[in-house]
Amino acid sequence: MTYDTKNIFAKILRGEIPCQKIDEDEHTLSFADINPQAPVHILVIPKGAYCDWADFAANASAVEMAAFTKAIHRVAKLTGISKTGYRVISNTGLDSHQEVPHLHMHVLGGAPVGPLVLAKSQL
Ligand code: AMP
Repeated sequence: MTYDTKNIFAKILRGEIPCQKIDEDEHTLSFADINPQAPVHILVIPKGAYCDWADFAANASAVEMAAFTKAIHRVAKLTGISKTGYRVISNTGLDSHQEVPHLHMHVLGGAPVGPLVLAKSQL
Protein backbone atom coordinates (compact mmCIF):
# COMPACT_ATOMS: atom_id res chain seq x y z
CA MET A 1 0.00 0.00 0.00
CA THR A 2 1.33 3.45 -0.88
CA TYR A 3 1.22 5.99 1.95
CA ASP A 4 -1.40 8.69 1.34
CA THR A 5 0.10 11.99 2.49
CA LYS A 6 -3.39 13.56 2.49
CA ASN A 7 -4.74 11.32 5.27
CA ILE A 8 -6.10 13.12 8.33
CA PHE A 9 -3.35 12.02 10.72
CA ALA A 10 -0.66 13.20 8.30
CA LYS A 11 -2.43 16.58 8.38
CA ILE A 12 -2.42 16.54 12.19
CA LEU A 13 1.31 15.73 12.18
CA ARG A 14 1.97 18.64 9.82
CA GLY A 15 -0.06 20.95 12.09
CA GLU A 16 -2.64 21.59 9.35
CA ILE A 17 -5.53 20.54 11.59
CA PRO A 18 -5.68 20.62 15.39
CA CYS A 19 -5.76 17.75 17.84
CA GLN A 20 -6.20 17.41 21.58
CA LYS A 21 -2.61 16.42 22.32
CA ILE A 22 -1.89 14.08 25.23
CA ASP A 23 1.78 13.30 24.66
CA GLU A 24 4.58 13.76 22.14
CA ASP A 25 8.18 12.76 21.65
CA GLU A 26 10.64 12.60 18.75
CA HIS A 27 8.92 9.58 17.14
CA THR A 28 5.31 9.62 18.35
CA LEU A 29 2.23 11.79 18.86
CA SER A 30 -0.74 10.86 21.05
CA PHE A 31 -4.09 12.64 20.97
CA ALA A 32 -7.72 12.14 21.97
CA ASP A 33 -9.98 10.30 19.53
CA ILE A 34 -12.58 12.69 18.13
CA ASN A 35 -15.35 10.07 18.55
CA PRO A 36 -14.45 8.31 21.82
CA GLN A 37 -15.66 4.74 22.34
CA ALA A 38 -14.69 4.69 26.03
CA PRO A 39 -14.24 7.32 28.78
CA VAL A 40 -10.55 7.40 27.79
CA HIS A 41 -9.85 6.86 24.08
CA ILE A 42 -6.44 7.97 22.90
CA LEU A 43 -4.77 7.42 19.54
CA VAL A 44 -1.01 6.86 19.54
CA ILE A 45 0.66 7.34 16.15
CA PRO A 46 4.23 7.18 14.88
CA LYS A 47 5.56 10.33 13.23
CA GLY A 48 6.94 8.21 10.40
CA ALA A 49 4.80 7.58 7.32
CA TYR A 50 3.49 4.06 7.99
CA CYS A 51 0.12 2.99 6.55
CA ASP A 52 -0.70 0.40 9.17
CA TRP A 53 0.64 -2.09 11.67
CA ALA A 54 1.90 -4.45 8.96
CA ASP A 55 3.87 -1.63 7.28
CA PHE A 56 5.31 -0.51 10.62
CA ALA A 57 6.26 -4.04 11.74
CA ALA A 58 8.00 -4.67 8.42
CA ASN A 59 9.72 -1.33 7.91
CA ALA A 60 10.10 0.76 11.08
CA SER A 61 13.44 0.99 12.85
CA ALA A 62 14.00 -0.59 16.24
CA VAL A 63 14.18 2.92 17.72
CA GLU A 64 10.77 3.83 16.28
CA MET A 65 9.28 0.56 17.52
CA ALA A 66 10.61 1.08 21.02
CA ALA A 67 9.36 4.69 21.07
CA PHE A 68 5.89 3.57 19.95
CA THR A 69 5.66 0.92 22.67
CA LYS A 70 6.87 3.35 25.32
CA ALA A 71 4.42 6.03 24.16
CA ILE A 72 1.46 3.67 24.65
CA HIS A 73 2.67 2.87 28.15
CA ARG A 74 3.20 6.56 28.93
CA VAL A 75 -0.28 7.53 27.72
CA ALA A 76 -1.85 4.81 29.87
CA LYS A 77 -0.04 6.22 32.88
CA LEU A 78 -0.75 9.89 32.04
CA THR A 79 -4.50 9.25 31.71
CA GLY A 80 -4.69 7.04 34.80
CA ILE A 81 -6.01 3.96 33.00
CA SER A 82 -2.87 1.98 33.80
CA LYS A 83 -4.34 1.65 37.30
CA THR A 84 -7.65 0.09 36.21
CA GLY A 85 -6.78 -1.62 32.93
CA TYR A 86 -7.04 -0.80 29.29
CA ARG A 87 -7.16 -2.25 25.77
CA VAL A 88 -4.81 -1.54 22.86
CA ILE A 89 -6.19 -2.12 19.35
CA SER A 90 -4.83 -1.50 15.88
CA ASN A 91 -7.03 -2.07 12.85
CA THR A 92 -5.06 -3.33 9.87
CA GLY A 93 -6.33 -4.23 6.42
CA LEU A 94 -9.75 -4.64 4.83
CA ASP A 95 -11.46 -6.94 7.32
CA SER A 96 -10.53 -4.64 10.21
CA HIS A 97 -12.33 -1.63 8.66
CA GLN A 98 -9.31 0.63 9.21
CA GLU A 99 -10.52 4.12 8.27
CA VAL A 100 -7.41 6.28 8.53
CA PRO A 101 -4.42 4.93 6.57
CA HIS A 102 -1.73 6.06 9.02
CA LEU A 103 -0.84 3.53 11.74
CA HIS A 104 -2.61 4.26 15.01
CA MET A 105 -3.11 2.36 18.22
CA HIS A 106 -6.42 2.90 19.97
CA VAL A 107 -5.81 2.97 23.74
CA LEU A 108 -9.14 2.51 25.51
CA GLY A 109 -10.08 2.47 29.17
CA GLY A 110 -11.70 4.27 32.06
CA ALA A 111 -14.52 1.69 32.28
CA PRO A 112 -14.91 -1.99 31.38
CA VAL A 113 -14.31 -2.13 27.63
CA GLY A 114 -16.60 -5.06 26.77
CA PRO A 115 -15.99 -8.09 24.54
CA LEU A 116 -12.95 -8.17 22.31
CA VAL A 117 -15.00 -8.37 19.10
CA LEU A 118 -18.69 -8.15 18.25
CA ALA A 119 -20.64 -11.36 17.83
CA LYS A 120 -21.24 -12.27 14.17
CA SER A 121 -24.91 -11.35 14.57
CA GLN A 122 -23.91 -7.77 15.50
CA LEU A 123 -21.66 -7.19 12.48
P1 AMP B 1 -9.71 3.28 12.48
O1 AMP B 1 -11.09 2.86 12.09
O2 AMP B 1 -8.99 2.23 13.29
O3 AMP B 1 -8.90 3.74 11.29
O4 AMP B 1 -9.87 4.49 13.47
C1 AMP B 1 -9.83 5.83 13.08
C2 AMP B 1 -10.14 6.67 14.30
O5 AMP B 1 -9.75 7.99 14.05
C3 AMP B 1 -11.64 6.69 14.68
O6 AMP B 1 -11.78 6.21 16.01
C4 AMP B 1 -12.00 8.18 14.55
O7 AMP B 1 -12.92 8.61 15.53
C5 AMP B 1 -10.63 8.85 14.72
N1 AMP B 1 -10.49 10.17 14.11
C6 AMP B 1 -10.81 10.54 12.86
N2 AMP B 1 -10.50 11.83 12.65
C7 AMP B 1 -9.96 12.29 13.80
C8 AMP B 1 -9.43 13.55 14.21
N3 AMP B 1 -9.39 14.61 13.39
N4 AMP B 1 -8.96 13.65 15.48
C9 AMP B 1 -9.00 12.60 16.32
N5 AMP B 1 -9.48 11.38 15.99
C10 AMP B 1 -9.96 11.23 14.74
